[in-house]
Amino acid sequence: MKLEFARSEKLNALGEIAASIAHEIRNPLTVVKGFLQLMKERNKGQDSQYLPLVLSELDRAERILNEYLSYAKPHLASMERVNVAAVIENIVVLLEPLSLIQGVQLDSRLSVKPAITGDRNQLQQALMNVTKNAIEATPRGGKVTLQLTNDEEWVNVKISDTGRGMSKEHLDRLGTLFYSTKDKGTGLGTTVSWQIIRNLNGTIYYESKLNVGTEAMIKLPLAK
Ligand code: ADP
Ligand code: MG
Repeated sequence: MKLEFARSEKLNALGEIAASIAHEIRNPLTVVKGFLQLMKERNKGQDSQYLPLVLSELDRAERILNEYLSYAKPHLASMERVNVAAVIENIVVLLEPLSLIQGVQLDSRLSVKPAITGDRNQLQQALMNVTKNAIEATPRGGKVTLQLTNDEEWVNVKISDTGRGMSKEHLDRLGTLFYSTKDKGTGLGTTVSWQIIRNLNGTIYYESKLNVGTEAMIKLPLAK
């Protein structure tokens, strides 16, 4: 089953505004969370019944912001030469804890070292969101592989998993803002990734088979 990833232009302007707001909200949120954790420590034994609830809701808000901008500051996007292999190596390190918890083997195949022109942090955010989805969709004992290749024009990143796959209906909704099938999902990950990839003049294309797995193929222009 295939899907060519192409969504409306409108999301771009909306995304810019949302990302700026998210960026501003993040700092006060971190401060509030810190103080609440301190309160929890000090009130040990006579814990307020509301405190765990407040903290878990704060965690939720934080997850939403993380999908959006842990690595991408939208207005500070730079145009630099980015070694894609190095970014993938970084992602594998950052997602090691998640894959361990999920019991999923995370591998990378990086025999080439192509570069693109763009913002390193944004590229990392984009590939990270897609890889995170792959890990989350894969049952214990499964495998997620990031493969990097290139030709004279394009850098190709293929993120494949042996996960549960998506039906045509699910594939059609992928990339839609707030679409999620997860209890603690934000439905932001793919939308954000797709926006970043488009800003880099790239494309993303999905192939998926129910109960077999999914491949996300990302194409980005090779740096001149
Ligand atoms: P979230 O991960 O917060 O749910 P995303 O936008 O990252 O939001 O993903 C949206 C949905 O797309 C997921 O909830 C999941 O159902 C589906 N999805 C994305 N990637 C995969 C994948 N590799 N395998 C199966 N389902 C996927
Ligand atoms: Mg996600």
